[in-house]
Amino acid sequence: MQCRNVLTHIDAMRTDEIDSQDRDRIRQHLDDCPSCEESVTDLEGFAALARSLRHSPSESLAERVCSSVLDSYDSFDLDGDRVWVAFSSAGLRMVDIAAADESDFRERYRKRFGRELRRAPIPENCRKSVEAAMLGLPIGLDAIDFSGLTEFERDVLTTIRKIPRGEVRPYAWVARAVRRPRAIRAVGNVMANNPMPFVLPCHRVVPSSGGVGNYAFGPDRKRRVLRSEGAPIELLDSLAREGVRFVGSATTRIYCFPSCRDARRIREENRVPFRSAEDAARKGFRACLRCMPETASA
Ligand SMILES: [Zn+2]
Ligand SMILES: [Zn+2]
Repeated sequence: MQCRNVLTHIDAMRTDEIDSQDRDRIRQHLDDCPSCEESVTDLEGFAALARSLRHSPSESLAERVCSSVLDSYDSFDLDGDRVWVAFSSAGLRMVDIAAADESDFRERYRKRFGRELRRAPIPENCRKSVEAAMLGLPIGLDAIDFSGLTEFERDVLTTIRKIPRGEVRPYAWVARAVRRPRAIRAVGNVMANNPMPFVLPCHRVVPSSGGVGNYAFGPDRKRRVLRSEGAPIELLDSLAREGVRFVGSATTRIYCFPSCRDARRIREENRVPFRSAEDAARKGFRACLRCMPETASA
């Protein structure tokens, strides 16, 4: 399908007025075409704005226009980082620790959402959510404003919240979990553009081949965050060097991702390494129901 055809169908797709065959072809195109994917984001943002203008009858039109076009931002210091936060009345919209200053953060926000920001004190509950997230604690979905994100971005970003603290999952696992197994690169793009690092833990998503992979704030920071959450970074590194992707227990005959809580309880003498899920299955091991490692293999 060509970009021009995709763009004419996108709004019909958003409102669900399209047959499933066209939908699949468009999704396939969006996986491979960042520019069309971006157009979808813009369109969804515009649709959200239109919806917000229709509702909230108690406010004056001017107030409604202002609060729907202008989100707010604030910053605070936490453990040596200057944390920049954008938020709306519906919750958190963007978190950043790499902005050089106020105008840099506003520019980053404008690029990501096409909207302006005005300075306002961060509400106590927003700030607490961000602080908790930076300690690796889970944040309720109601603290987050997902408007302006595509359906795919939302799926991916809510799915990675299920990766437990102290554990990691491959990009391919995320792609399978959102039922788009071929969209591994698109998952990578969502991670790279995650507007709320820490809050939506993209740092827990890593390459299948091992290592920690890319991170908006650099691989060293990713290692540091994972280590602080209790992920076995050194073990993962050494297994990756040996080509080991899964570990099983000789007593339970169950295999796991190496960072799975269950895998880490396997005693040294019972530990069986696997290079692939097929290898594990061939030897009569079944996949752990907790970390679902079979979803990582093609
Ligand atoms: Zn395109
Ligand atoms: Zn497991």
